[in-house]
Amino acid sequence: MAFSKFGQKFTQKSGILQLMDDLGKALASDQPINMLGGGNPAKIPQVNAAFTQVAQNLIQSGQIIDSIANYSTPQGDDAFIKTLADFFRAEYGWNVQPENIALTNGSQNAFFYLFNLFGGEFEGGNKRILLPLSPEYVGYADAHISGSHFQTVRPKIERVQHNGKSGFFKYRVDFDALETLPEWENGEIGAICCSRPTNPTGNVLTDEEMARLDKLAQQHGIPLIIDNAYGAPFPNIIHTDNQLIWHDNIVLCFSLSKIGLPSARTGIVLANAEIINAINSLNAIINLSPTRMGAAMVTPMLQDGSLKQLSNEVIRPFYAEQAEYAIALLQHEFADYPLAIHQPEGAIFLWLWFENLPISSKELYEILKQRGTLIIPSEPFFVGLDTRDYRHAHECIRMSIAGDKTVLQQGIATIGEVVRELYDNA
Ligand code: PLP
Repeated sequence: MAFSKFGQKFTQKSGILQLMDDLGKALASDQPINMLGGGNPAKIPQVNAAFTQVAQNLIQSGQIIDSIANYSTPQGDDAFIKTLADFFRAEYGWNVQPENIALTNGSQNAFFYLFNLFGGEFEGGNKRILLPLSPEYVGYADAHISGSHFQTVRPKIERVQHNGKSGFFKYRVDFDALETLPEWENGEIGAICCSRPTNPTGNVLTDEEMARLDKLAQQHGIPLIIDNAYGAPFPNIIHTDNQLIWHDNIVLCFSLSKIGLPSARTGIVLANAEIINAINSLNAIINLSPTRMGAAMVTPMLQDGSLKQLSNEVIRPFYAEQAEYAIALLQHEFADYPLAIHQPEGAIFLWLWFENLPISSKELYEILKQRGTLIIPSEPFFVGLDTRDYRHAHECIRMSIAGDKTVLQQGIATIGEVVRELYDNA
């Protein structure tokens, strides 16, 4: 069968598709697996109890039917949008009106729209999305319908301490390289985008870095897209004291996935009215209207403050504790070996760098899989970079910290055995 160019592009076997497929199959097999690979949020009993209660209230009051038995407008569930606008005004003092908000079927859906609105073919040439830091969220990688995709530069690597201990590093934006890219002069950058906290590294771009990116975007008359899937105010899996910023030139994206509702597929875009209108038009054509279940569940939780409370008092501390627990195990396993861990500043992963690893992280992934532990190798996360002569890009792995403590213990013990043996035999 002949597929169009669009069809060919979206049906090709991208690296990450193969990897996700592989993870899914390994999980479905009857072999026991230490799952440190996926992006699922943790199952936290207090959070599950809160969602169960809200769902029961919706059923008992009959609101569930009002919600799921009717389409919303293409912009999304009206009550949720109004509640969000009130919430953002009260919480941050931003001048947010309902016309500044659109819902999407997951924030992944929003990035597909945004990257194709601001990147791709324009009259007069192609524009790309600038990623100030790579490694970045792998889900961005193949989202373009046409044109060349991402522009980025290698990160600066700074050795840092964490809780007074060495063995950590932090990526920093290389602004000298970024600000002097020739693509600026030719008008080839259509938007800047970063996830903050970042999947896969747990990095949180500093307020200074964000201010500089904000300025750069304004200077060039392009939007700054901030992917806040792990940030404040929900799920608030962020352990540094940073400011969340928004104004007319910033597109701020939220998600209900990491609070524990990934299959509710609810993304929230906060932007100027022109961008929101564009998203509404795309929603109408692609989805008719976004899903309403997540909106129905979270509206009362935003109104009574329980979502913010759960995020601050349960979700954030849970992941902070998981991170410290995993770090203690890792530092024990690799006491005399060259492991550096990216400073754990947020999100639900640790990013491990095995300097001078004798094999590629893709090969390490294969060996670990054979040994019953799943992680994600680093190469696909270096979105927009040619990694062929960039050794660092082949020396890292991403491990999820959402699993229970036994999974962390067994998985990290296996990583320890395998990687120590590799260094010992090198
Ligand atoms: N952005 C980041 C940084 C993510 O890690 C994810 C999912 O893992 C997404 C966006 C997409 O999430 P969703 O489509 O479930 O909102």
